[in-house]
Amino acid sequence: MLVNAYGAHAGDKPLEPLRITRRTPGAHDVQIDIAYCGICHSDLHQVRAEWPGTRFPCVPGHEIVGRVSAVGAQVSGFKAGDLVGIGCIVDSCKRCPECEEGLENYCDRLVGTYNGPTPDEPGWTFGGYSQKIVVHERYVLRIRHPEEQLAAVAPLLCAGITTYSPLRHWNAGPGKKVGVAGIGGLGHMGIKLAHAMGAHVVAFTTSNSKRETAKALGADEVVVSANADEMAAHVKSFDLILDTVAAPHNLDAFLTLLKRDGTLTLVGVPSTPHPSPGVFNLIFKRRAIAGSLIGGIPETQEMLDFCAERGIVADIELIRADQINTAYERMLNSDVKYRFVIDIASLAA
Ligand code: NAP
Ligand code: ZN
Repeated sequence: MLVNAYGAHAGDKPLEPLRITRRTPGAHDVQIDIAYCGICHSDLHQVRAEWPGTRFPCVPGHEIVGRVSAVGAQVSGFKAGDLVGIGCIVDSCKRCPECEEGLENYCDRLVGTYNGPTPDEPGWTFGGYSQKIVVHERYVLRIRHPEEQLAAVAPLLCAGITTYSPLRHWNAGPGKKVGVAGIGGLGHMGIKLAHAMGAHVVAFTTSNSKRETAKALGADEVVVSANADEMAAHVKSFDLILDTVAAPHNLDAFLTLLKRDGTLTLVGVPSTPHPSPGVFNLIFKRRAIAGSLIGGIPETQEMLDFCAERGIVADIELIRADQINTAYERMLNSDVKYRFVIDIASLAA
């Protein structure tokens, strides 16, 4: 079926209205009428070809929420009318050790929600800046938040799980001091989630204007990272720092803040590498630099339920599809508190 979408024909072209084809649901497929889709910085990296391998036209969007409008004959877990979400994963091999453990995010044959290989025409996937999507039931998430919160739930599908998963893996919780660097879409969810897990949370920002608002998100302390005295006050004190910054920067400034055996976990994916960190900062305190990629499907459902039980959603600015290009510029200027979400009803005309 043909549906309205928003995407770009080249890395140096703005996004514009497009028509794309969605497959008829197969036996295990769920068809979703998309209500809202968040704008992740990864969408911008990909559609502007800042990362290698973008295929055009490119329709981004992997923070998808909506209602089921049809299901295949073999689908038993979902029915028309259910509130559901789709994150960054729409397929994987389903057989490797990672898939068997529910860590589909680390499957070598992971299919991303956009720009991933698919037998569907034209050969790569299209994301959530579109009216409908058809996805195998394994990758469909159930949403238990009240419907009024649906737009603000959308960012949980990427920003939420990408911060929840490393916070859980590195045991954020009571008695732990956790830093979150970069208070954007991912970072603001990292603050909310680490706070909800019971950790002492310190937010690192380059934006003075976020000093007060970060406290409202749940940060116990806020550090403006350009201020050397403020940084020095936290030397050798962190168990974990989650680095969500979308641009290359000096990692040593954060490594020196880790206590012995502390970990700096990178989730931001700048288009050019960070300057190499100093070895001394690693070996003298047995510190580690790690990375983390979104999260698997079972953990994404766990995160959604954790948030539903506690009333946690993203702080969002709702926009129309024809505001996407402006939203990208504002995101580059760190001028969003804290996630743009597209009202997909605006694609109808
Ligand atoms: P975002 O909303 O643009 O937030 C990034 C934040 O980083 C900004 O708000 C800003 O925070 C800070 N920042 C930006 N430029 C900076 C600079 N030059 N120097 C220092 N700080 C800077 O982006 P996002 O959607 O949260 O995504 C963040 C990164 O994570 C992107 O690279 C994205 O591709 C990546 N990502 C990774 C995964 C994964 O699985 N690992 C998943 C999703 C996204 P302040 O104003 O507070 O300084
Ligand atoms: Zn994302």
